[in-house]
Amino acid sequence: SKAALFDAENRVKITFNDVAGLDEAKEEIKEIVDYLKNPTKFTKLGAKIPKGALLVGPPGTGKTLLAKAVAGEAGVPFFSLSGSDFVEMFVGVGAARVRDLFKQAKEKAPCIIFIDEIDAVGRSRGRGSMPGANDERENTLNSLLVEMDGFATDSGIIILAATNRPDVLDSALLRPGRFDRQISIDKPDIVGREAIFKVHLKPIKLDTDVDPRELAAQTPGFAGADIANVCNEAALIAARRNKESVDMQDFQYAMDRVIGGLEKKNKLIA
Ligand code: ATP
Repeated sequence: SKAALFDAENRVKITFNDVAGLDEAKEEIKEIVDYLKNPTKFTKLGAKIPKGALLVGPPGTGKTLLAKAVAGEAGVPFFSLSGSDFVEMFVGVGAARVRDLFKQAKEKAPCIIFIDEIDAVGRSRGRGSMPGANDERENTLNSLLVEMDGFATDSGIIILAATNRPDVLDSALLRPGRFDRQISIDKPDIVGREAIFKVHLKPIKLDTDVDPRELAAQTPGFAGADIANVCNEAALIAARRNKESVDMQDFQYAMDRVIGGLEKKNKLIA
């Protein structure tokens, strides 16, 4: 929720099975699970374990889900915060929150720290908007950099951060020893959409006419979050009509509704 700046879900139940498609990203991120589970396998050969990776891709494509799945697969705590929480924060509070988060993470290591929307704090310094207005954000970014440099690579903390604007990030964040690897998470193609539909159709009582491949064909441009939304909308529509199961017509209405919502959002942006 937005009220809590970060939470420690000591048990993350999400695994790679919950993340559909994204095969390449999963393959890359599996290395991180291995670092968390078997750090000595790497350190005994003198390798430095990476401190962080950047998940890059459009909204709703499963970046948060994938980060949670890493924690779930490795069986470690998941700490998260969102860059947007730091916007308009009082002087010193952002930096203090970052320090506090890393302190907690060190106590609970091995663990994952997930920073959503890192571009909100990690925009290159001295760029854009009014002079002075960015000072507090810069303080927060500086404290993040200090904290990232302040723990050893074998401390068992791995930081995953998500953004859809890697181009605006301060180059200091991308330096070796910080977020020096990027994993790209794209919107799903038709095969990916079918796989995501299958995940989200699982808990729903379906009519025999519901065909995931057909649903995937009808939803070009949808992100995973939109697909999850369609599945739930369809179930709500069917329930409202007192149906025994959810059929293709319910999905048709649900897709129209979600497409309507997406068009409205695009108009607002344009
Ligand atoms: P944002 O950038 O807006 O924070 P995100 O990329 O972090 O978005 P998530 O929050 O991970 O996206 O996705 C939102 C929801 O959409 C997930 O909780 C899940 O229900 C669904 N979803 C997204 N991508 C996938 C996927 N690849 N497989 C299964 N479900 C998905």
